[in-house]
Amino acid sequence: MDVKNSCIYTVFAFIFIFKKLSLKCNIRLMKNLEELIPTYKDFPQKGINFKDLLEIIHDPEVFNELIIKMSSSPILEKSEAIISIDARGFIFGSAIALQSSKPMIVARKPGKLPGEIVTEKYKLEYGENSLSIQKSSLMKYNSFAIVDDLLATGGTVNCVSELLNNNNKKVVGLLVVAELSNLNGKSRFNFPVESFISF
Ligand code: AMP
Repeated sequence: MDVKNSCIYTVFAFIFIFKKLSLKCNIRLMKNLEELIPTYKDFPQKGINFKDLLEIIHDPEVFNELIIKMSSSPILEKSEAIISIDARGFIFGSAIALQSSKPMIVARKPGKLPGEIVTEKYKLEYGENSLSIQKSSLMKYNSFAIVDDLLATGGTVNCVSELLNNNNKKVVGLLVVAELSNLNGKSRFNFPVESFISF
């Protein structure tokens, strides 16, 4: 075997080993998340199986591993800034912003933001609400990665996506820790969605 071929084989071997290791890490992370996240039946109302993702931040090792994984997403790479959603989205969004050195702006529930705002209503898996973004923060960036804790019906993310589109901003994709796959929220979007555990 000549030097050129042996170099090519070595590179392929490294890629193969790296992919195997990365797959093993993903499976381990998924298993850890599965074990950590409890389900509360009929909360906050009958028929809802509430996934308490805040348990993740009780475990710094799993939280750290998750944030490193989320921060290395190509969705983030292609976006200028993160927009995280009130309130659990802020926890994951700000950790990702710190890890990836990306700026972060926020979409907040009513009555929380000062100054000029843009607002949009949306329907939840349970109830109805609205989200607002400060105009001054929106004007600073052109493309966004949306970050939230969990994707259910997709109404919340759709609201943020509409707010961004209505203001001529691009949505590069959505990063969520978890998705409820039976609700198929991601079928509503024409941008990529990355989640780290499905229920
Ligand atoms: P949706 O707009 O239906 O995709 O709902 C997503 C938002 O509602 C996220 O911000 C979640 O925090 C919250 N949410 C909806 N359903 C659940 C659930 N079953 N468990 C935990 N959080 C939920």
